[in-house]
Amino acid sequence: MYNPKSLSADEFINHEEILETLKYADENKDNIPLIDSIIEKAKLRKGLTHREASVLLACELPDKIAEIYSLAEQIKKDFYGNRIVIFAPLYLSNYCVNGCVYCPYHMKNKHIPRKKLTQEEVKKEVIALQDMGHKRLAIESGEDPVNNPIEYILECINTIYSIKHKNGAIRRVNVNIAATTVENYRKLKEAGIGTYILFQETYHKESYLKLHPTGPKHDYNYHTEAMDRAMEGGIDDVGLGVLFGLELYRYEFAGLLMHAEHLEAVHGVGPHTISVPRVKRADDIDPDAFDNGISDEIFAKLCALIRISVPYTGMIISTRESQKVRENVIRLGVSQISGGSRTSVGGYSEEERPHDTEQFDVSDQRSLDEVVHWLMDMGYIPSFCTACYREGRTGDRFMSLCKSGQIQNCCHPNALMTLKEYLMDYASEETKKIGEALIQAELNNIPKEKVREICREHLEKIENGIRDFRF
Ligand code: SAM
Repeated sequence: MYNPKSLSADEFINHEEILETLKYADENKDNIPLIDSIIEKAKLRKGLTHREASVLLACELPDKIAEIYSLAEQIKKDFYGNRIVIFAPLYLSNYCVNGCVYCPYHMKNKHIPRKKLTQEEVKKEVIALQDMGHKRLAIESGEDPVNNPIEYILECINTIYSIKHKNGAIRRVNVNIAATTVENYRKLKEAGIGTYILFQETYHKESYLKLHPTGPKHDYNYHTEAMDRAMEGGIDDVGLGVLFGLELYRYEFAGLLMHAEHLEAVHGVGPHTISVPRVKRADDIDPDAFDNGISDEIFAKLCALIRISVPYTGMIISTRESQKVRENVIRLGVSQISGGSRTSVGGYSEEERPHDTEQFDVSDQRSLDEVVHWLMDMGYIPSFCTACYREGRTGDRFMSLCKSGQIQNCCHPNALMTLKEYLMDYASEETKKIGEALIQAELNNIPKEKVREICREHLEKIENGIRDFRF
C-alpha cells in the first residue's frame, strides 16, 4: 500500500503506485489542459508531485517541452542565480564486498588492483586537491567492513580536515559510502560531514535485486531506508541519486520524486541534492550491456523536470558527462559540478591520470582551472563556498534561507569571496583576468548596500592575504 509517511521502503516507494503513475502519465501525455495546469502549478515554484511531473515527462509535444525548459531555466536563475558550486571526489578505497554488476569494484573482479589509502596517502591526495584550489570534497569508498570500517572513514575525514597547506583547506567533506547504521551516521555527523550521499541506483526492486546479486547491498529495503536512518542519526542534508541506464528512466524518475516526497513527509525537509549519474564504461563494465541507456535529449529533459519538481533541491553533475552535456544541463538546472576529477584511488598525487583503479571513465578531463575559466566564459560564477553548513544552515534552516529570498545577499557574496581566494591562490593569469572583471561586475548584483560594502572590504582583505570570510 502506498504511504509516503511510512518508514518501510515497499510502502514509500510503492511499485503499484509507480505503475499506476506511469499509466496515468501515458493516458494524459497529450492532455493539453492538464499539462498546462501542471506547468502553471510549477510556475508557483513550490514543486510538483511525482504524478504531475511524470505527466510532463511522458509529454512529447514540442511547444510544451519548450515551455518546460524555459521555466526550468527561470527557476534555476531565481533560486541559484548564476553561481555554480565546485567540488571534487576523493576515492579512499576500492575494496568492496558487493556484487554490483555495473561497478568495476565488484568483488568478483579479480583483475582490478585493490587499493586503500593510508593516512599519509590521504594527506598527499588532499594537498594535491588543495593545490588545485578545491575546498569541498565528496569522499567515495567501496563497502568492506574489514578493509573500510567506519573507523577508517572517520580517520580519513579527520585527516582531511586537519591539513592546512599554504592557503589551502578542505572546508566541507561530503560522504558517499554504503548504507549503514544510525549509530554510524551519528559518528559521521560528529566528524563534521556536510551531505550524506547515497545513490539508490534503481528504485525498481526486482531489478535492484538482480543488479546487486551478492553482498550487504543486496538488501533493497536496508539500502532504500538509509536516508531515514541518516536523518535519525542527525544528518539533515542528504543527497539522492539514480544511476540512469539500469532501469526505465520514467520508473526511476517517479521513484526519485516519491523518495523526495517521503523525506519531506517524514522529516519535514526534502533532499539537499539530487545527482544524475549515467552508467559509464569502466574496467570490466560495458555500458551497452544495460538496455536502458538514455539519450542526451532525455537526460536534459530529466534534469529540467527535476529542477521544476523540486526547486529547493540542488542538482549535481559529475565528470561522467562531457563538456557539451554539462553545458546544457547547467543551464537547465544543475547547481553543483565536479572539476579536475580523478576517479582512481590515489589518482591526484600522480603526475599522469592513472586508469588502473578507476571507477569509471571520466568524460570531462579538463583541469580545474580550465573548468573555472569555461564557467566564467559562459557568465557563471564558480563558487567554492562552504558557508551554509559551517554556519549551521543545514536541513530546514537552509531551506528557509532559500525560501526567504535572502540567497542573493548571502550566497552571492560568498561565491564572489571564495572565487577571489581561488584567483589569488591558484588561477592561471588568463583565468585571473576574467575572474577579477567578473567579480567587479557581479558586486553590483548584491541587493543590500550594506552587504555589498562588507563584501568589498573582505575582497580587499583577501587581496592582502587574509582568508575565509563568509556571510
Ligand atoms: N560504494 C558506495 C555505495 O555502494 O553506495 C558508493 C560509492 S560508489 C564509489 C559511487 C557511485 O558510483 C555508485 O553509487 C554508482 O551509482 C556509481 N557507479 C558505479 N559504477 C559506475 C559506472 N560504471 N558508471 C557510472 N557510475 C558508476
